[in-house]
Amino acid sequence: MEKDTRTVFLSSSVRPVYRLSLFRCAGTLRLQVSEKKRRLPKKTTITMKNALLIENAQVLRPGHWVRPGSILVKEGKISEIDPKRDQVECVFDRVDAKGALLTPGLVDLHSHAIQLFFYETDPQQICDAAAVLPRYGTTCVLPTLYTIMNRSSLGHLERLSEAVCRATGAAMPGFHLEGPFLALPGAGADTVPGDVVLLEELLATLGGRVSAMSISPDTPNIIPVIERLREEGIAVFITHTHASVEETQLAIDAGARHATHFYDVFPVPEEIEPGARPVGAVETILADPRCSVDFICDGVHVHPMAIRAALAAKGWKGVVAITDANIGAGLGEGVYETPLGYAIQVSPSDAARIADKNHPHCGTLSGSSLTMDRAIDNLLNWLDLPPHQVWAMGTTNPATVAQLADKGDMRVGADADLVLWEQEGRQLQAKTTWVAGKCVFDAESEICV
Ligand SMILES: [Zn+2]
Repeated sequence: MEKDTRTVFLSSSVRPVYRLSLFRCAGTLRLQVSEKKRRLPKKTTITMKNALLIENAQVLRPGHWVRPGSILVKEGKISEIDPKRDQVECVFDRVDAKGALLTPGLVDLHSHAIQLFFYETDPQQICDAAAVLPRYGTTCVLPTLYTIMNRSSLGHLERLSEAVCRATGAAMPGFHLEGPFLALPGAGADTVPGDVVLLEELLATLGGRVSAMSISPDTPNIIPVIERLREEGIAVFITHTHASVEETQLAIDAGARHATHFYDVFPVPEEIEPGARPVGAVETILADPRCSVDFICDGVHVHPMAIRAALAAKGWKGVVAITDANIGAGLGEGVYETPLGYAIQVSPSDAARIADKNHPHCGTLSGSSLTMDRAIDNLLNWLDLPPHQVWAMGTTNPATVAQLADKGDMRVGADADLVLWEQEGRQLQAKTTWVAGKCVFDAESEICV
C-alpha cells in the first residue's frame, strides 16, 4: 500500500482540525479522516506580514505611463501593480493615496551634502544625511567624495565606508569618487595623474562600495584607470576637463559612458583660428551615442536651453538630473560654514557661492543648494516633454547609469523605494517616502528615520 498523504486543515477556532489522508490500496484511492490533536490558534484571520498596499494613487512608471492605480509591496519589493482583490484582502497595512502622485524615489548620482551634513566629514554625517534625504523624495544617493582620495585619508575612508553600510533612510549603494584623477580642480577637487596602484588602494579601502568614479580624459595615464574601473563594474564618468576630441574618444572607447555636471568645468576650447569653431569634450560627448550626461538642474549652473540641446542629441533616456549639492541644500537662504575652510552663501535661486571676503574666489560657485525634488520641479517647468519622461531623468535614468538594476523603476520586482507627492503651491513636496517598503518619511507625523 502506498500512502499519499495530504494534510488539510478544516478549521476554525472551535472545531477540531482533521487530517485527510489518501491511501492507495489495490489501485483504489481511499480517504481516511482522522482528528488531529493540534488546533489552530483562536484568531483565524490571516494577515499578510510585511505587505503594504498603496491604493487610489496616480501611479507613474518612468518613461512609460502615468495612470490611476495601486501598488502592492511585499518583502521590500514591488509585488504587484494593480493587484486583484483576492491578492490584497489580507493586507493589513493600507495607504489611501487619495489620488496623489506616486513615483519611484529619486536617485542622486552626485551630491556632497544635504542640510548641514557633509559626506566627507565623518561617519555620523553620512548617517544623518541618509535620514533626512527622504523628505526631499530622494531614496538613493551616491555620496560623492572629492577632497580625500589620497593615501593619508585611507583610514578615514574606511570609516566612511562602514557608515554607508549602517545608514538607514535613503539607500547608499556605493560612493561616487569625484577624482582624484582629474585635469581641472573645479571647487577643490584633487588633480592627480592616473595611478592604478592608488586606485587599487582606494577601492580596497572602500571595500567594493564604489558605484562610480569621475575622471578627466586629459589626465595623464588615465586609460589604464578607466579599464580597471570597468573590470570592477564601476561606472566611469567624465568631468573637470578640457580634453580634445581625440582624448575624449579614447576615454569613451576605454569604457567611460557618462559625463557629470556636463558643461560645468568643461571650458570652451580656445579659438585658434578666427572663423574656425573649436571643438572638444562637449561636442564629442554629445555626438557619441554611448554616452549619457547629467546636469545640475538649478537654472544657475546650466541654462535650460543647454539642457534642451543635450536632449535633442541624447533623447530623454540619455539625460539625468543631479544636485551636486553642498552644505545648506534643503535649508533656507543664509551663510553656512563648510568643512572646507570657508563659508558659503546659499540661496535657492542662486546656488551656493563662497562667502568669505578674504577668500581668493569669493563669490564663485561652490556646488549647488539644490535638492532632487526641486530639480524635477524645474525640469517639469522647463521642458516640453511628457511628465513620465521628465521623471525618468531623476529615477530610471540615473539608476541605469549607476547600474542599479532594482532602483528607480515602478515595475514588479523593483525595490519598493516610493514617494507619494503633494503639491504645495507650485512646488512638489514629498508627503510619504518608503525605502524597501519601509516608511522613512511622513510629512504629517514628521517621521524621519
Ligand atoms: Zn561635485
